[in-house]
Amino acid sequence: MTTKTWASEKFSGLDYEFDPQWILTPAQTELQTKLIDLCATVLRPNAVESDRSLIYPRKNFEALASLGLLGLLVPNVWAGLGENHICAAMVVETIARYGCPSTAMCYVMHLGATAAALFRAADNPELQALLQRLDQDVFIGTLSYSDPETGSHFWYPVSSKAAAVNGGWQVNKKASWTTSAGFADWYIVQTTSPDFDGNYSNLSCFLIYGDEVKAEPQKWDALGLRGNQSGTLLVDGVTVPTGRMVGPKGDGASSNDETVDPFFLLCSSACWNGIAMGAIDIAKMHTTRKKHVDVGMRVADYPTIQDYVGEAIMDTNASRAFVFQMGQLMDQVTNNCDWSIHADLSAMPRAAYLHWYWQIKFEAAKNVAHVCDKMLHACGGSGFKKDMEIERYLRDGKAGWVMGPTNEVLRQFVGKMALLGIESLDYWNQSVNERVLHNEVKKLDPEGKRKLAEQLLEQAAKDDAATKVKTLIGTGV
Ligand SMILES: Cc1cc2nc3c(=O)[nH]c(=O)nc-3n(C[C@H](O)[C@H](O)[C@H](O)COP(=O)(O)OP(=O)(O)OC[C@H]3O[C@@H](n4cnc5c(N)ncnc54)[C@H](O)[C@@H]3O)c2cc1C
Repeated sequence: MTTKTWASEKFSGLDYEFDPQWILTPAQTELQTKLIDLCATVLRPNAVESDRSLIYPRKNFEALASLGLLGLLVPNVWAGLGENHICAAMVVETIARYGCPSTAMCYVMHLGATAAALFRAADNPELQALLQRLDQDVFIGTLSYSDPETGSHFWYPVSSKAAAVNGGWQVNKKASWTTSAGFADWYIVQTTSPDFDGNYSNLSCFLIYGDEVKAEPQKWDALGLRGNQSGTLLVDGVTVPTGRMVGPKGDGASSNDETVDPFFLLCSSACWNGIAMGAIDIAKMHTTRKKHVDVGMRVADYPTIQDYVGEAIMDTNASRAFVFQMGQLMDQVTNNCDWSIHADLSAMPRAAYLHWYWQIKFEAAKNVAHVCDKMLHACGGSGFKKDMEIERYLRDGKAGWVMGPTNEVLRQFVGKMALLGIESLDYWNQSVNERVLHNEVKKLDPEGKRKLAEQLLEQAAKDDAATKVKTLIGTGV
């Protein structure tokens, strides 16, 4: 195994002996080496500046484009690298660990948006043209889903809608958070479908370009991932041509389950693992150099510090192994990330394992916060200061837990699904929990029950009338 280098010097963090290099192909190993070099010379110095001055990492994207990384998932015939899920996880982890976590998260969203476009590109010339210019034009994409009214339930866009108009669609999107908002060149946005009738599982996706959105980057300021610029976004009644609908009408839930969720969960988990490894690297560098003259020992010579580092490596490598295993599974079920399988619109091989992707995100986000905290302890007061960069890794890693699906939501999804079945998750608030309903009604006295019954009858009559009006409008009477 070769020795890891950093700007031609020996790397001061963990060497390859603690990296699962055996999962990479020779081409992926070569790409990783080039990327580490780029991190040392370009991405890492920019990370410091990005964090300090809230600078969007476009320069880092230009560097990534020089290695063809914006088109990482794009097939060779469309000028991309045609790489697989394992490679996507490796690239994100490498950027977060050695380069810049903010850039890594913007890149995660770019990959998610690229996957959503590739999923439905087979018969869409607009998407095909877009996918062929990613590296050449440093054409950065992102995902705009989260709604101000529904918080981290990003699959529930109550403030957004779309309508069929002459020659295309009129899109209204209001997003509370969008990585790269105002800086990205293209956005995949999700709204309710043009024929929306109150069923929030009826969602559609649209391709919107940078000059069609309104963003407020001046308002962005956050604890960590400060270059990420995840601000608000508004698409204010913009009319787009028919081909800018990504996939058929009502394809939103399928797009979520087959591409947006799997790619976001896989790649963001790789980002959290990269941040954890980056913190361990810094701790190794510092504790092996800092000496205590009175006892004649380095900080790394104390067994307590060795225990911290040993546990951090094992926990993080457990999480990395889990993430790469899911990448391997995704490669297996998609014929090594072959997008042509989606010419059949019903092909959804990744979606069957959604509950596994939830688990990797929970574990990686939980681990990164703990590891960064312990590595800061290992470095002592020196780690508390900005120049060592460990405090930045700690702040950046904190985003893992709160990014949707949040770890509270994921923990409950997995437990509830295991105990009560997948239908109990009820993403769009459609099924009645009879147990809760009867238990609450049971508490009412006869007068209370009569009052509730009257209210319900009144509401049912209003609902009937509203349905009748809708039907009449629909039939043109
Ligand atoms: C750095 C960063 C980048 C982001 N980038 C993007 C992006 O590119 N695109 C995008 O669409 N969004 C993005 N988001 C938004 C993100 O996915 C979430 O929507 C957002 O973090 C939710 O914040 P909130 O304040 O609305 O949380 P809330 O949803 O209000 O959560 C508050 C608390 O309630 C808990 N909670 C919420 N629902 C439940 C539940 N059902 N059961 C139990 N507990 C619950 C949460 O876990 C949390 O503890 C980003 C967020 C961050 C931090």
